[in-house]
Amino acid sequence: MNKVTVRAHAKINLLLDITGTLPNGYHGLHMIMQSVSLCDTVTVERGAHALECSDPAVPTDARNIVWKAANAFEKATGIDCTDTRITIDKRIPSAAGLAGGSADGAAVLAALNRLHGTDLSAGQLCRIGAAVGADVPFCLTGGTCLALNIGDVLAPLPAFEGYTLVLAKPDCGVSTAEAYAAFDQAIGVSHPHFTQLLFDAAKGDWPRVFRGTCNTFEQFVEVVDRVPIKSVMRRSGSLFSMMSGSGPTVFGVFRTRAEAESCAGELQTQYPHVFVCDPVPYGLQIETK
Ligand code: ATP
Repeated sequence: MNKVTVRAHAKINLLLDITGTLPNGYHGLHMIMQSVSLCDTVTVERGAHALECSDPAVPTDARNIVWKAANAFEKATGIDCTDTRITIDKRIPSAAGLAGGSADGAAVLAALNRLHGTDLSAGQLCRIGAAVGADVPFCLTGGTCLALNIGDVLAPLPAFEGYTLVLAKPDCGVSTAEAYAAFDQAIGVSHPHFTQLLFDAAKGDWPRVFRGTCNTFEQFVEVVDRVPIKSVMRRSGSLFSMMSGSGPTVFGVFRTRAEAESCAGELQTQYPHVFVCDPVPYGLQIETK
């Protein structure tokens, strides 16, 4: 096998609560993560060391998470990955709270595992991925998951399905590091009732989850367009809307595709990145040649 193509899916957070600072200095999280059909296509093949990305704003040097993933794979397996050519067809907006970088990193780990026939288990890949980025284990796993600790401790939840999503990213990016720094400075942050949310999510009672959930970042990460986007979504019939990750993307949950498309049509007149997509039960889809 010489070439592996992977569809690397974005995620949204149906819950994101920051519980405090862990002994290692990272932030502890309670999250419900959901893969969505919006995806990048990542191709990994044997060839001269090179990275090409369709989005010129994404760095193609050592700062790109795909090289961090390749280095971590090399370190874990002892396999020389110098002669690896990677191509990213980018559709997931960057610095959007949609784990676009982590999805690409997860895709490269899974692709190298196939390309080199290393047969690492899902658990082994997740352990390698956790050192590359906190969302990488979820992107490798996909579907609907409870994510704890820094996001690397995962448990499956009943599928979030039967809804159509609208994702809208205003024309700004949010630095995840700055968002956590804002949490460290914030006073009087309120938190959702985690035990109740876990109980509702474990039953797959999503309407009850919508009533109790939140994204704690919304209390101190300022995104001017968040309220106008949510009001368009509400007027278009959304059951629920919330910011994903550290933002700025806002997602809306709709009962029908027609409502979602009409909402997206209105948002597209004002915002550069608007997508209608579906929840999906996987993080990666792998094709080998
Ligand atoms: P998360 O939800 O995991 O915090 P995000 O959607 O907020 O992720 P990313 O899309 O992962 O953010 O991008 C964050 C930064 O990482 C960008 O500013 C970008 O320069 C850098 N980056 C490195 N590699 C990639 C990649 N393959 N795709 C996108 N961004 C990348």
